Amino acid sequence: ISTGDLFRKNISNKTKLGLEAKSYLDKGDLVPDSVTIKMLENEVLSNKDVNGYIFDGFPRTLNQAKSLDSFLVSINLKINATIALDVNENELISRLLDRGKINNRSDDQDIEKIKNRFNEYNTKTSILIDFYQKQDKFFSVDGKGTVDDITSRLFDLVDSLI
Ligand code: AMP
Repeated sequence: ISTGDLFRKNISNKTKLGLEAKSYLDKGDLVPDSVTIKMLENEVLSNKDVNGYIFDGFPRTLNQAKSLDSFLVSINLKINATIALDVNENELISRLLDRGKINNRSDDQDIEKIKNRFNEYNTKTSILIDFYQKQDKFFSVDGKGTVDDITSRLFDLVDSLI
């Protein structure tokens, strides 16, 4: 479940949630926790017939992480692992600008918005490394190299966790 994809789907379908989230995505700001957490929970609850979940881009704040833990307890699940892809900011800027040429994401086409997204990560998300490290659930994967290289590193890690 990718919260970014869910927001973009709601924006293109012009739903109430999409209208609420649009200005945040356009600026590269995080969408408020209350909106994001509710959306994630609804998505999980409407896809229950599965063996597990991979969340992409969630949680991104301490509040989201804590809410996720209590929500998962309420449905008898728990977080097994958190994986961060480690890439330096210059490489990310160049990848995002390249992606911005082939998608319609305004937040991938403007360097100031990209820098704002890094700032959101550094001020609100990076503290989660410590949160999950203390529970022995944090794993970092080298994000340098080709898509195939990184995919195979991710598969190796996930296989080792099962
Ligand atoms: P992404 O597709 O993961 O790069 O996310 C794109 C944008 O969606 C972010 O810059 C935020 O505006 C919003 N977003 C996605 N996931 C979250 C989240 N967990 N919390 C708050 N905002 C989010």
